[in-house]
Amino acid sequence: MSTSITRPRPWIKNAQAVGIAGAPGEVLASPPSGMRPTRRSSDVGLTEYRRKRRFAVTSEPSGDEKRRRKRSRTLAFVVQKHRATRLHYDFRLEWNGVLWSWAVPKGPSLDPSIKRLAMQTEDHPLEYARFEGIIPEGEYGGGTVMIWDTGTWTPDGADVEAAFAKGELKFQLAGAKLRGSWVLVRTRSSGPTAGRPAWLLIKHRDGFASVEDIATAQPRSVVSRRTLAEIAWHEGGNVEKAARGDPPAEIRRLLANPELVARPKRGKPAVWKSHRP
Ligand code: MN
Repeated sequence: MSTSITRPRPWIKNAQAVGIAGAPGEVLASPPSGMRPTRRSSDVGLTEYRRKRRFAVTSEPSGDEKRRRKRSRTLAFVVQKHRATRLHYDFRLEWNGVLWSWAVPKGPSLDPSIKRLAMQTEDHPLEYARFEGIIPEGEYGGGTVMIWDTGTWTPDGADVEAAFAKGELKFQLAGAKLRGSWVLVRTRSSGPTAGRPAWLLIKHRDGFASVEDIATAQPRSVVSRRTLAEIAWHEGGNVEKAARGDPPAEIRRLLANPELVARPKRGKPAVWKSHRP
């Protein structure tokens, strides 16, 4: 490690550009995700996922990795905070060899009185749960991806496929930030012709319910402890765009104390490694 550098190079050039020199409260206000409509078909698998991406350009996994994963008794879940055209949180549940996926514009809430819109998106490969890094601008979903929470999930009922088809999936989460009982409910407005099915993600009342705004209170990656801006800085993304997805107070704190900005780790560019030459 070099000791000649006493302070990090400017990592956010223009505080005004990330909105924190203006009205801080407005920075997080973001309309629902403008992602492309998609429809689910259970036999499509990863076809739609692959069709949308150019794997020679993006470092996202193609899903071609052999299923080395042993048949495990636990099912993974991941929530990826994604600063694309719009900030959103991708909520993914492992099922039958893929990740069922929803885009949650405002992110999960621990408050049972708050229902969060969750737009169903295409299934993702299991390896995607380990992806944190940059999707190049101009590519599908271009921007910065953070592993905001991860852990295991347990369906409440025996027939998960039936619950999914019925549009009422109850489950338990055991993550670092999200725990306890939850439900995903498909809304009536979403029919077969209405484009992407809209669901609601709702926390059930239990000991893990809270009125704390978890997205603001715990904005960092659970695997690397980085903000979106730090991930973008380390991995060659658009730092100022990424910073607009971080809580303004956190960015202000880092700008005031540059020594607190996480330094890049050499030789460890991303959590996901593609194994491409
Ligand atoms: Mn996304």
